[in-house]
Amino acid sequence: MTNRTAFITGASRGIGLACAKALAAAGATVVLAARDAAKLEAASREIPGSAWVELDLAIPESIKAAFTKAGKVDILVNNAAITRDGLALRMKKDDWDAVIATNLTGAFLAIQQVLHGMMKERWGRIINISSIVGETGNPGQANYVASKAGLIGLTKSLAQEMASRNITVNAVAPGFIETDMTAVLSDELKSNMLAHIPLKRMGKAEEVAAAVRFLASEEAGYITGHVLDVNGGMYM
Ligand code: NAP
Repeated sequence: MTNRTAFITGASRGIGLACAKALAAAGATVVLAARDAAKLEAASREIPGSAWVELDLAIPESIKAAFTKAGKVDILVNNAAITRDGLALRMKKDDWDAVIATNLTGAFLAIQQVLHGMMKERWGRIINISSIVGETGNPGQANYVASKAGLIGLTKSLAQEMASRNITVNAVAPGFIETDMTAVLSDELKSNMLAHIPLKRMGKAEEVAAAVRFLASEEAGYITGHVLDVNGGMYM
């Protein structure tokens, strides 16, 4: 991936940081993006040669500014996401809007920022981090699931629009991965989940990053519109 620049949203921790490390190890120049500048700076120090930009995906002007600062992007990893869980019956519109704005609209607006450059280069890789629940549904997460299923639809539509320009668009759907997002779950919920995972363990951020690195590689050039499950067999 020498001579390729990869922009990773939500790269200050968890799966995004693991993706940034994996892409950098494969030779890409990486740009880390998220809201918290101090955490980004610390994360960037772990990856020699990396850059970082502040980005709030819920604010369209912030997206524009971050990509202007980053310059040419060959590989976009739409990884950042938030949750605001609750049963649909009582879900506040603010919680619905915040999750859709960050996870889905933010990813779409980020894609719009990189398409012209990729079309000019006739080379591009867009990788959207969805979720197993975007495929299966999940009670208590209607907003998050809608955003993750939306990303799959976006991936497949864009893959068809961009194929003639040699830009591939794929999604990765992680299952139950050890990160801050899952650290808050109760032990009871975790053991219930583990009972449904054939591989009998949670996944690691590095295992999701390995799938992203593959989809970003030259070798994956004939794969587009695909949803790659990294879920220990939890959903097949
Ligand atoms: P995480 O640990 O909560 O990290 C989320 C990242 O997104 C952070 O870097 C955060 O930084 C950034 N972020 C949040 N809101 C943002 C915003 N408005 N603008 C820009 N950046 C923002 O999450 P994770 O567990 O690594 O998950 C990464 C991705 O994998 C997400 O798309 C998630 O839905 C998906 N996923 C995770 C699991 C799992 O089990 N962990 C399973 C399936 C799918 P700031 O807060 O500083 O902005």
